[in-house]
Amino acid sequence: MVEVLPYTEKLKLWRRPEESKKRIPVTTDYPFVEVEKPPEYRGVPHIDPELCIGCGACVNACPPDALIMEWDKENGVKRLTFNAARCIRCYRCVEVCPTGAMQGTLRFEVATPSKEDLVEVVEHRLAKCERCGNYLDFTERQIEYMLKILPDGIFDKEGIRRRAYLCKECRMRETVEEVKKGELR
Ligand code: SF4
Ligand code: SF4
Repeated sequence: MVEVLPYTEKLKLWRRPEESKKRIPVTTDYPFVEVEKPPEYRGVPHIDPELCIGCGACVNACPPDALIMEWDKENGVKRLTFNAARCIRCYRCVEVCPTGAMQGTLRFEVATPSKEDLVEVVEHRLAKCERCGNYLDFTERQIEYMLKILPDGIFDKEGIRRRAYLCKECRMRETVEEVKKGELR
């Protein structure tokens, strides 16, 4: 039976062939067999739509704009698009994602007859202003996540929730009304 070495061991053989006493094949039958990847290999990342809150931290961190965020305020949608063709596998997105939605994989094959195969889209519902009904810049999931991670017993969570679901204009209007009524100083 042919002994197959892990990838990192094969690399060592390539560097110092004179040190190798064994006659071991350094190529594999890929693509007919699966290629063994080292555990630290950075493949194409993937977005878990269940964990994503649409915060955009990954978009801000991505050097080649492989991730973009779009707002469709007509339909109340915030859209995160990942294009693996632009990805340089730096994993900045994985490092900054607060929820673990951006995940590393061992997938390296990106050859495809259709560029669409390399695109992942995650859509989120935008939160609505509870006073005027306009869509906010934030997703409902973003607000709920923020409320979830706020420590209990320190902040007025109900007050924060109420103001988080107001647009900038309505928040200003409410503040002015509270000052007029003497509720806020
Ligand atoms: S791995 Fe790097 S290049 Fe690829 S999507 Fe993440 S931040 Fe962008
Ligand atoms: S950083 Fe994570 S949670 Fe935020 S938009 Fe990107 S994938 Fe989603």
